[in-house]
Amino acid sequence: MNDSLDARIESLATLAEEARKEFATATHEEQLNQLKARYLGKSGSLKTIMESLKELSPDQRPILGKTVNQTKQEVLQALEDRRVQIREEKRRQELAHRWIDLSLPGRQRDQGAIHPLRSVTRELFSIFRSLGYDVAEGPCVEDDFHNFSALNFPPDHPARDMQDTLLLKNGALLRTHTSPVQIRTMQANRPPIRIIAPGMVYRCDADVSHSPMFSQIEGLWVDEKVSLADLKGTLTTFARRYYGPDVPIRLRPSFFPFTEPSCEVDVGCVFCPRGGSCSVCHDTGWIEILGAGMVDPNVFEAVGYDPEKVQGFAFGLGIERVAMLKYGINDIRLLFENDVRFLRQFAK
Ligand SMILES: [Zn+2]
Repeated sequence: MNDSLDARIESLATLAEEARKEFATATHEEQLNQLKARYLGKSGSLKTIMESLKELSPDQRPILGKTVNQTKQEVLQALEDRRVQIREEKRRQELAHRWIDLSLPGRQRDQGAIHPLRSVTRELFSIFRSLGYDVAEGPCVEDDFHNFSALNFPPDHPARDMQDTLLLKNGALLRTHTSPVQIRTMQANRPPIRIIAPGMVYRCDADVSHSPMFSQIEGLWVDEKVSLADLKGTLTTFARRYYGPDVPIRLRPSFFPFTEPSCEVDVGCVFCPRGGSCSVCHDTGWIEILGAGMVDPNVFEAVGYDPEKVQGFAFGLGIERVAMLKYGINDIRLLFENDVRFLRQFAK
């Protein structure tokens, strides 16, 4: 019986030795897996020896069992060692074929930048938000009521003519200003209201200083006691934040259907050179930046407010004009053509 045990132990040693040799010849992990099944699998060589355990006497069984386990560990270890070697070899070969030339210059990627109009709009947002204004928006396709009637445009006002307004076939129109947003906001809310409304507007117009599509930002403050002094204070604060702490503003009487009284607002020219003439303000020392006024009582009536109880002011400015003045741009069309060479100048 001892012979039988010794013979088995010896065959285990032989098996381990054979396995090592075969592992060494394997060149792919797939081969290793097949060898693993042959030696250690369910019908593998080791299992066959293990199954012969029952042919031994009870005192011999633990001896063989222990040897089988040791052999199994050795074979597994040899297998994993070879697996690591194969992987390293594979990696070495890959690197030999797929090398990287670190001395080559990198590919440059174009970086996007904020469009000057967007950047000006953000700056305006930040100023008016700090004064307590919320941002309100409305549709570009409007009806006559919101774009004209509610804003006190009389039926024969020239702005209603096709010369100025882009009319759509269904009787709607493209809004000619952002003021319809005031109407929609007042219809949907009760005072106090303090909003700025940015957006695209459309008119039949195209030359170096006019585009058929341009953007406005409009402000509206309605409450029980709002005066022209509040309007002036608000616009002075805006002008000083935007153009500089010492810049003066002036209000000139003007006319708009939806405000009464109405004014045009100028800021002191920030471009005037010392000595020599200024092409921006034509030597007047002032640049017109926006239109404003106290909301006309007829507008309040159109939205169902009592003009005896509420007051308010409104102002509107062209964002392109603000951007053109800020960056010294002399043709409004440059802002819409999206020529990368032009836009690149504003990348920070
Ligand atoms: Zn000037």
